[in-house]
Amino acid sequence: MEVISRMVQGDYEQVVFCQDREAGLRAIIAIHSTALGPALGGVRMWPYGSEEEALFDVLRLARGMTYKNALAGLSLGGGKAVILGDPSRDKGEALLRAFGRFVDSLGGRYITAEDVGTSQQDMDVIRQVTRHVVGVSGGSGDPSPFTALGVFYGMKAAAKRVFGRESLAGLHVVVQGVGNVGLNLCRLLAREGARLTISDINTRALTRAMAELKANVVPPEEVYGVECDIFSPCALGGVVNDKTLPLLRCRIIAGAANNVLLEERHGEALHAKGILYVPDYVINAGGVINVAEELQGYQRRRVEEKVARIYHTVERVLELAAREGIPPFKAADRLTEERLLAARQKSQRQRGEPGWLAG
Ligand code: NAD
Repeated sequence: MEVISRMVQGDYEQVVFCQDREAGLRAIIAIHSTALGPALGGVRMWPYGSEEEALFDVLRLARGMTYKNALAGLSLGGGKAVILGDPSRDKGEALLRAFGRFVDSLGGRYITAEDVGTSQQDMDVIRQVTRHVVGVSGGSGDPSPFTALGVFYGMKAAAKRVFGRESLAGLHVVVQGVGNVGLNLCRLLAREGARLTISDINTRALTRAMAELKANVVPPEEVYGVECDIFSPCALGGVVNDKTLPLLRCRIIAGAANNVLLEERHGEALHAKGILYVPDYVINAGGVINVAEELQGYQRRRVEEKVARIYHTVERVLELAAREGIPPFKAADRLTEERLLAARQKSQRQRGEPGWLAG
């Protein structure tokens, strides 16, 4: 398994392999970048099929956090951790504390948080051994309403560009997945006067949503073909792929799900088809903005202000994309890379290194 060459290729700062035999811990912490500040990203616990698979996942996720945190305007870098194991079977306090000690050993270069397979209670256990953890009890609470709010603002910025108005009143929005984020988003959309179509594989989630919303329901397999103004994936990743692309009949795609594009080329295809795709990591940053707030003393009002700025970030991304004739996901990457480069050059200058001249 080539590790350092992969780090060089993706420009990763540090990868830490952790094991504690007594606690049964096997974990990897990847710090992609601390150019903007300590690397913040959750710890995922998953029964990976191999170490290779775990490494691939943690590297991909850590880099994603650099981009998400940077465009969210946070003074934070990107990192991620994975614990190899089945959370329902292998997770225990000793394992979490052992993981927390490794986080602590990094002296604040990496700040952990909950992710798939870990919970707020787990963060409370990790907090016993390190202060470099967010998402603990009495902290920032459920991120979903803020993620939904950010998606809502991002949709408005996209509507402004495509329909010439930021109000979503009267627009037909299809929401795939009415879980924690999707339901909160539907509430905001309903209040704004949007026409809703919803879909979910879980009947309980659908019943809960239908009890308070006026919405059409479509079966999960039909959701892609519904003619609408905005399609909002709020369930799972990879939903724009070779199978779904020919079916899509929307003008905008804007949702909370991570990794909406199965591959980059699907983003190019959307662009060619004239569908405006708002990049996932730009529009779904409300949750990380909320949890990051714990680092400076949680204030709900400040979170709401920062989440509202997603509107302007999306606006900037879409402006650049239109100006350069490139897909918005490429424009977002470009804006992020500019911010990272500026931060690196600034710290090189502060250290008196000449590298920024060559930069
Ligand atoms: P959730 O588990 O509460 O809700 C997801 C919903 O999608 C569930 O009701 C599930 O039944 C439904 N679903 C799953 N597969 C489906 C399918 N094929 N068709 C229709 N519905 C389907 O999760 P969430 O917290 O609401 O997050 C939604 C998405 O947003 C996830 O992809 C998550 O990674 C992403 N996200 C969430 C946050 C957050 O703050 N919660 C932040 C950033 C990104």
